[in-house]
Amino acid sequence: MPAADPSEFNVYQSAEARFELAARKLGLEEGVYRFLKYPSKEITLYIPVARDNGNLEVFIGYRVLHSVVRGPGKGGIRFAPDVSIDEVRALAAWMTWKCAVVNIPFGGAKGGVICDPAKLSKGELERITRRYTAELADWFGPERDVPAPDIGTNDQTMAWVMDTYAMHVRRATTAVVTGKPLDLGGSQGRREATGRGVMMCCNRALAKLKIQREGCRVIIQGFGNVGSQAASLMHAAGFKIIGVADIHGGLYNEKGFDIPKLVDWVYMQRKPLPEFPAGGEKMSAQEVLFRPCDILVPAATENQITTQNVHRVECRILCEGANGPVTSQADSIIDQKGIFVVPDILGNAGGVTVSYFEWVQDRQGFFWRESEVNERLQDVMDQSFDHVVETAESHGVNNRVAAYIVAIDRVARAVKLRGIYA
Ligand code: NAD
Repeated sequence: MPAADPSEFNVYQSAEARFELAARKLGLEEGVYRFLKYPSKEITLYIPVARDNGNLEVFIGYRVLHSVVRGPGKGGIRFAPDVSIDEVRALAAWMTWKCAVVNIPFGGAKGGVICDPAKLSKGELERITRRYTAELADWFGPERDVPAPDIGTNDQTMAWVMDTYAMHVRRATTAVVTGKPLDLGGSQGRREATGRGVMMCCNRALAKLKIQREGCRVIIQGFGNVGSQAASLMHAAGFKIIGVADIHGGLYNEKGFDIPKLVDWVYMQRKPLPEFPAGGEKMSAQEVLFRPCDILVPAATENQITTQNVHRVECRILCEGANGPVTSQADSIIDQKGIFVVPDILGNAGGVTVSYFEWVQDRQGFFWRESEVNERLQDVMDQSFDHVVETAESHGVNNRVAAYIVAIDRVARAVKLRGIYA
């Protein structure tokens, strides 16, 4: 097999390649194409932070606003050692397309700080978050740009963002950020929302392919917010979770895992996932992707399935919980294998959809029951899934290209209606 082309791993190039393909199929005019291809604006921040040992360190952070055509920017903040401007650009563009696929009134944005949260104390993480937010106090806002959690950040991080912003604008402003704790204007169901959206898409895909849900074999890579919630909900719904993995490694057990016990092991006992006593065969976190299953859910990070390993994937349905887990160069091989793909901008859109519900509730000052949140999420996910699959059929393209076509078409129509401000 030829060696991998290094550009395959540049997620920005992957995002662009998919945008270009869909824009061409859609017959997008050249000017609008150029307008949507580039971010609206981006910023690099140098964040001075006093470490606990008294040393001063400077962390590098980014925020990219890809589009505000259909509404305020929306997108998470990632804390990870390998954050780069290209990655943040790609993730910001994906947010634009994701919000448009599920038809919620947001544009796309993303942020990140190059740091390793596992090596920082809670106080240090708080200081990074507050300084990052303070630097962006004029940029963020419920009607401008609304952050949320992503890899390495959580509801506590969002509480610090909200408080810092509130101190700058001199009023409590819960709607400036989503994914907050319930006690601070968070929404019921937000924590589970991305995993729940993954399950809803899997259910829809099974119905489409006429596969029975009971005992359906599922492998999930990533056991953080998205992966562990998807695993818990799918286990409770009768799916058989036969493979799991996190950064420490993977486990495979064809009899299926007791997911509540695994969640307890990882989150209550704080033990490494691969050491789970009732676990099966140990393997690397990547190897688990290549065991036979009905549904494969990559829910960890980017570039997991590439031209180098895609031939080893053995599933009927690939439902992307993570952003960009498959490189664009591997897409055509997935197609040739006849795998039914639920692309990331649809598969993991449950999170941003309930973030939208959180923003609506904060602005109304009126909060919904969890059943109400889940019902509305179901409506959005089912409608969006059906729209993407119908578009794939009517345009003779795969589901990924179809999802981009739906999204780009919506944003392009908004551009034309608004016109370009000179
Ligand atoms: P998280 O930090 O809560 O969890 C990430 C998980 O992936 C952890 O279990 C970690 O150990 C594991 N992991 C990291 N690198 C890995 C590797 N190389 N191999 C195997 N496992 C690895 O993050 P999250 O919020 O669950 O996000 C996961 C993915 O889903 C990301 O791509 C994120 O952008 C995307 N996403 C998250 C949300 C959300 O609501 N949290 C919404 C949409 C998309």
